Amino acid sequence: MIILGLETSCDETAASVVTKDKRILSNIVSSQYLEHKPFGGVVPEIAARAHLGHIDFIVEEALKKASVSLDDLDGIAVAGGPGLIGGVIVGVMMAKGIAMAKDLPFIPVNHLEAHALTARLTSDVMFPYLLLLVSGGHCQFLIVEEVGDYTYLGGTLDDALGECLDKTARLLGHGYPGGPIIEQLALTGHEDAFSLPKPLKGQEGCAFSFSGLKTAARKVISENDITSPTFQADFCASLQQTIGEILIDRCSHALRMAHAKRPDIKTLVVGGGVAANQYFKGQLSQWAQSYGLEVVSPPIKLCTDNGAMIAWAGVERFRKGLLGSLDFAPRPRWPLEELRRGDKTERKTIS
Ligand code: AMP
Ligand code: MG
Repeated sequence: MIILGLETSCDETAASVVTKDKRILSNIVSSQYLEHKPFGGVVPEIAARAHLGHIDFIVEEALKKASVSLDDLDGIAVAGGPGLIGGVIVGVMMAKGIAMAKDLPFIPVNHLEAHALTARLTSDVMFPYLLLLVSGGHCQFLIVEEVGDYTYLGGTLDDALGECLDKTARLLGHGYPGGPIIEQLALTGHEDAFSLPKPLKGQEGCAFSFSGLKTAARKVISENDITSPTFQADFCASLQQTIGEILIDRCSHALRMAHAKRPDIKTLVVGGGVAANQYFKGQLSQWAQSYGLEVVSPPIKLCTDNGAMIAWAGVERFRKGLLGSLDFAPRPRWPLEELRRGDKTERKTIS
């Protein structure tokens, strides 16, 4: 089985060809990093126009690199939301066009579901598992019970973690995306140089809140000299250490909640762009050891948005007969739990 996957829900125009036996035949990602850099974040209209300008070429490249033609495909998967609606529409219309022209199954995929399932493409992770999804737009814990079956445990009350890192990096005078810059700068800093708040630490539940940390970061930055490399390094190291502690505390609570429902959970999957951070990954792996919990994170290029994760979610859905229909409407908002209720018009069985 060969599936083409398209991703256009935020600031990456991406297409990938993936097989049922987990071979990524191509994975083409065009990042709009330079277009958004001057604004310090993703500008929806710029994103939509860039997707429109790049999508044809990216699909062509993905097919060429995989040495397949549209006739070799068994289905086409696309991120149908949640995301910036202008971009989602571009991807969905492209996928519908190909599906219609080639009479292929059309598989609209929830972008969050794709992040949730990526670890099964790159490692042999078995259901159920606990997922920490940390990206530019999302920050939440889920129990991944099965394909299409997710239980939300808690998430951010305000900013996503990636957003907090991006905005803080901007205050330090850096461009977008800020997460990798902060990680790099932190390498030579002292993590106890600055004391920063840890919102919600120790409190019940597994919600996150990053707005207070962001405000505190703004205050420290305004009181210091951002042209000093020592300040930059020390501040970034302190910020990362603070966030690491918050992540571990929230993960402890989330694991307790998850085990109350599914005592058989043995894996924590960390997905989304922030999962590319080696410091956070190291801290979480160390913490997990005492629980006999395995921490799995996809390779960096599959943590940030990409087409392979969409194609793989397409494979997983195809195998279960969870296809879509051409009347699917792109969705700016699409909570994962809605999938469990199973939209009847989007369930078809393959004969
Ligand atoms: P996504 O929303 O999944 O496309 O991921 C983009 C987000 O991930 C942005 O907020 C980035 O700042 C963040 N990010 C990417 N790489 C890293 C990293 N190495 N450390 C922390 N955050 C990162
Ligand atoms: Mg992105």
